[in-house]
Amino acid sequence: MTIPLSEEVMEKQSALETDIQFLPGVGPRRARMLAQELDIHSFGDLIRLYPYRYVDRSSLTDIADIRSDAAAVQVRARVRSAEMKDKRLSVILEDRTGSIEAVFFKGVKWMSGRLLPGTEWIFFGKPQLFNGRFNFVHPEVDSPEKAISQGSGKLTGIYPSTEKLKNAGITGKVMNRLMASALQACLPEVEESLPSYILGEKGLPDIRTALRDIHFPTDQTRLERASSRLKFEELFYLQLSLLKQKYVRSRNAKGICMPRVGETFNKCYESLPFPLTGAQKRVIREIREDMRSGHQMNRLLQGDVGSGKTMVAVLSALIAVGNGYQACIMAPTEVLAQQHFRNIGKYLEGTGVTVSLLTGSSRTAQRREVHEGLLNGSIKIIVGTHALLEDNVQFSNLGLAIIDEQHRFGVEQRSRLWNKTGSGIPPHVLVMTATPIPRTLAMTLYGDLDVSVIDELPPGRKPVKTIHIFENRRLALNNFLKDQIALGRQVFVVYPLISESEKMDYKNLEQGYEDICNAFPYPRYKVAYVHGKQTNEDKNMFMKAFSDGRADILVATSVIEVGVDVPNASVMVIESAERFGLSQLHQLRGRVGRGSEKSYCILVSGQKLSRESSRRIELMCSTEDGFVLAEEDMKMRGPGDLEGTQQSGLPVRLGIASLARDGLLLSEARNYADSILASDPALEKEENGILLRELRKEKYEMKDYSRIS
Ligand code: ADP
Ligand code: MG
Repeated sequence: MTIPLSEEVMEKQSALETDIQFLPGVGPRRARMLAQELDIHSFGDLIRLYPYRYVDRSSLTDIADIRSDAAAVQVRARVRSAEMKDKRLSVILEDRTGSIEAVFFKGVKWMSGRLLPGTEWIFFGKPQLFNGRFNFVHPEVDSPEKAISQGSGKLTGIYPSTEKLKNAGITGKVMNRLMASALQACLPEVEESLPSYILGEKGLPDIRTALRDIHFPTDQTRLERASSRLKFEELFYLQLSLLKQKYVRSRNAKGICMPRVGETFNKCYESLPFPLTGAQKRVIREIREDMRSGHQMNRLLQGDVGSGKTMVAVLSALIAVGNGYQACIMAPTEVLAQQHFRNIGKYLEGTGVTVSLLTGSSRTAQRREVHEGLLNGSIKIIVGTHALLEDNVQFSNLGLAIIDEQHRFGVEQRSRLWNKTGSGIPPHVLVMTATPIPRTLAMTLYGDLDVSVIDELPPGRKPVKTIHIFENRRLALNNFLKDQIALGRQVFVVYPLISESEKMDYKNLEQGYEDICNAFPYPRYKVAYVHGKQTNEDKNMFMKAFSDGRADILVATSVIEVGVDVPNASVMVIESAERFGLSQLHQLRGRVGRGSEKSYCILVSGQKLSRESSRRIELMCSTEDGFVLAEEDMKMRGPGDLEGTQQSGLPVRLGIASLARDGLLLSEARNYADSILASDPALEKEENGILLRELRKEKYEMKDYSRIS
């Protein structure tokens, strides 16, 4: 397992930083793949790629006992027959309990030369259900002697991988070999990254032991110790960096003091078209307290779709205006900015305060006017997109920045607003999100923010009935939609648009649009169509036709996912629902059920559903509670998920800990970090030197935007 490194390479530089292509067995081509697929560039990167599960290669499964596709198994079996079918090699394996097929598409020649009828092998792979029977696709094949000598009593790590890596020959076995030689070269260089008093208090193994045992555990106990050390460390530093920012800010960051609510606030409040919900009132009070405290507000406002966050934004903006400051509201898309602009304009009628708009498609002359108005202070409230972040946008005295649907804005983007204030004091910040976030995730994503929650919907909302149908019942679906349209309702039809399959998705979308136009012929029915390749003008025109009620159906991509408000739309049809994630489905469903009519969400899927997809669809049909869905969503996405979607937007990428499964450890790490900072806020004590050194590493610095202010 240990392959000596060429001395030449070793002498020149540290092993940890050595380019991965110099690891024996890698070379330039595989190095490119590792970089592209797993972001691995050096030996040091490689040893920080952890197995996401382990298999016990010391035990064998009887073929008759294969009853699920949940985990990889190892069988010892004799080849009964091996023949070419089409371009694949089909091999029937048997042991004393039964038989199973193994299929090979690649390396077929070589395999058929080995797997001669009558020979015995160890096959290792994940069973797959095919036509009601299990088979193996490309199992690993070992001779019985070799497998047993390698595997006795050991747990073998399974590493994240992709098709491309496998095609480049980096199989599980190869990965294990690479890991062994990288570890051998690097371990002596790895420095301890936790102070010894923490290791002592927590009873954790040192870093070298932990790294060795996480990759090559000799038993379950050692594996668990290694894993808890590495997980704790990760979560601990994450929380330490977040909390440290909070400490720094609460000590240093002076905020603009806004002692009044002001006349316009009161005027607007009195002429509201509806009474505020209890939750809205509570949240506004919290914001008001922050804004007059003299400290900078950094608050996250969480509220499910339709909970009335816009009203809260408007009233908060008016507090700023009432104290002589400007406020800006940033939306993630042009469509949303437009919508905010219209709604906020309506809420402000009669108050004497006006709102301006700045987006990417604002015309030059208008843009200049807005820039001027912001600089000389005549514009009090501005709604906009990323265009607000451009360098030539400067405020006279920005007092409040509201960021809607924050998950689309990066932290760095937020921080750009800091430099635009005019006064030099950072503006108050209110981040609004409609994505319900599980507690553990909130603690991390927003560990440096205070949190307000609107946990109450405006009165009169009716539950949305959610139904799942298969594609082949489209005729019945269309009839149902016609009935609804006859009742005066409007319908959303949404198609997935996923960047990896964009071309195909556009095809489906176009086809879907055509089908709908055929099923709902003009002029009896009017169909609007919105997608990302249209000009903004077209997009706005179609959106407006739909929101004004001139179109019955809006065919769209998930662009409408965030924020679009059309109370008369009472049916949401989601095509290829199996391809959407839970939180996306939930967001989309939130587009209906805003008016007084009974609303429907119809999930249309193909006939064949993976276990996960049917679970998602089932959950959607059974609950409307965004927090329940968010928790489930997190649980369902395994750590094997290479996309790392559950962690998108995280300040650092977690390598081993999971916010879904390590909630307890996360709380523990946060409390521990908090207690250290309480007695040593600047981490100046000698024993905390290591902590400061680790925090200075690039991955934590990126996030430390409080310094910018
Ligand atoms: P969110 O942005 O939280 O998804 P919105 O602010 O768009 O929700 O509000 C959704 C709808 O509810 C809007 O049509 C808004 O006018 C309405 N609304 C907001 N607050 C109330 C309230 N207190 N009572 C009745 N309707 C409300
Ligand atoms: Mg909104």
